Amino acid sequence: MRELKWASLSSIVFAVLCALSVILYHRGWTKIYTDVDDHSILYLVLSPILVLAAYETYYYWLHRLMHHRSIFKIVHRVHHESMEPTVFSAFSFHPLEAFLQFIFFPIIIAVMPLHLGALATVFTILTVSAMINHAGVEVYRNGWILKHIIGSSHHDVHHREFKANFGLHLTWWDNAMKTSSQNNKPKKIEQR
Ligand SMILES: [Zn+2]
Ligand SMILES: [Zn+2]
Repeated sequence: MRELKWASLSSIVFAVLCALSVILYHRGWTKIYTDVDDHSILYLVLSPILVLAAYETYYYWLHRLMHHRSIFKIVHRVHHESMEPTVFSAFSFHPLEAFLQFIFFPIIIAVMPLHLGALATVFTILTVSAMINHAGVEVYRNGWILKHIIGSSHHDVHHREFKANFGLHLTWWDNAMKTSSQNNKPKKIEQR
């Protein structure tokens, strides 16, 4: 119930920022395009990957910042009240955190040409991965994938330890900044 309340408040923030994005689009203040011929097919395929890479970096550093003692209690504690995450935890954020996570998008569409379909792809991946990371069970079963892609094994450790595993989709920033937990192992191995 607590998670649903916070998730509802977060969705209001997301909806307001979506509405702002639509207004920006109708005023011609974004670089969103709908005709696939406006840019190359290669760009159409690469652009969602570039957005996800930029968001991965933005999220990692925002997440590190949100764990700063002076900010954590106000902005990020709500999300960490879910010690054993479930899919209901996936969108359980304080409205300020929801704002900080989503404000990236009105900015990116203002500066980077993106086909509407590419943007929809990014949002679909973000939504599905948030649910996978908070699923309570590990979805990924392949060792190579788990080495690079963040699933519930990796993110559950963040909810328990607080000071490690800040990444969103990829383990790369945590590995590069040495914030990867010593206790990272796939759940199926943990449970044996
Ligand atoms: Zn989480
Ligand atoms: Zn956190």
